Amino acid sequence: MQEEKHKFATKAIHAGVEPDPTTGAIMTPIYQTSTYKQEKVGQHKGYAYSRTLNPTRHALENAIAELENAKYGACFGSGIAAIDALLKILNPGDEVITTADLYGGTYRIFTTIFAKYGIKFHFIPMSDLSTLEATINEKTKLVWIETPTNPMMNIVDIEEVAKITQKANITLAVDNTFATPFLQRPIDLGADIVMHSVTKYLGGHSDVVMGALVTQDKTLADEIYRIQNSSGAITSPMDSFLVLRGIKTLHLRMQRHCENGKKIAHFLKDHPRVEHVYWPGFEDHPKYDIAKKQMDDFGGMISFSLIGNELKEAHQLMENLKIFTLAESLGGIESLTCHPATMTHAAVPKEEREKAGIVDSLIRLSVGIEDAEDLINDLKQALA
Ligand SMILES: *Cc1c(COP(=O)(O)O)cnc(C)c1O
Repeated sequence: MQEEKHKFATKAIHAGVEPDPTTGAIMTPIYQTSTYKQEKVGQHKGYAYSRTLNPTRHALENAIAELENAKYGACFGSGIAAIDALLKILNPGDEVITTADLYGGTYRIFTTIFAKYGIKFHFIPMSDLSTLEATINEKTKLVWIETPTNPMMNIVDIEEVAKITQKANITLAVDNTFATPFLQRPIDLGADIVMHSVTKYLGGHSDVVMGALVTQDKTLADEIYRIQNSSGAITSPMDSFLVLRGIKTLHLRMQRHCENGKKIAHFLKDHPRVEHVYWPGFEDHPKYDIAKKQMDDFGGMISFSLIGNELKEAHQLMENLKIFTLAESLGGIESLTCHPATMTHAAVPKEEREKAGIVDSLIRLSVGIEDAEDLINDLKQALA
């Protein structure tokens, strides 16, 4: 399918998969095998050992790459394992520019794992492009951004950041987990690498933990494949199958996530107990214009804070919810809620956290694809 330009829904169904050449099976089989027969020494059908390449994983890697309008994809055992692989392209002494307003686990691997190996991280506000330009020096090798950010729903202008990194010859990586390629395609906007926690919307059913990297750049791709094979944090054939199945409905799920998200964001905004709602689809969101420019819709992730800012009240509200389940993670068909300050972002020091706006009463919702009316009623009773 690669040569033709198909629209998103067609790609979601067909990207990366061909009927199985041995049997004609329409769905990619789960090639649950570690190794492959070689006809002669070194002569095989492209698969020699499943750490290096496995047909089920290979189909998924191609599918995710195609959805992101990229050529090369690589899947890993988790989103964090994908980040780990990407950071290994760096050498001691190299510098990374990123922002404190990141997924907590990303902040943790940067500061507690890679900092130890001599890589320096600069955490700057990405909304201010002059700070980015001023922080770049000859040691800067990677700029890492997330947009919309977790959990503050800040928006970073991918195209403008890409102009700066391209001029300075620095790799730009974008964590596209929240938006998914259905809403936002960073490669088209000039990014070099897109990272996914496939665990979230791409898998979409809360039954797999997986990560992915995609790129257009052959040199970067070769380096990523070398690290994937050498460090070995691959994903399994079974999980690859589940995600291949999941992404066939990505467009349908995302449409409903967006519809429900919009209704709930407006409901919360009008509620007297709610202090602030963070959702990029509001016209008064400080970066609404950028969100509108680079995203096709605004997604189903919403954060909000309570008047009075009491931790106790936030916890009580979350316990009162009946349809929204209190849990880490996001992006599945079911609605979830979490408390960033004590859950996903507990690894971020309190001072850093509050600087980024993650106050004690902040509640994050991953709006699922249930009936919007039921979800709103659930929030209504929990807030009452
Ligand atoms: C969950 C998440 C990650 C980490 O992915 P895992 O699959 O949990 O390892 C990274 N970035 C974002 C934005 C996430 O939501």
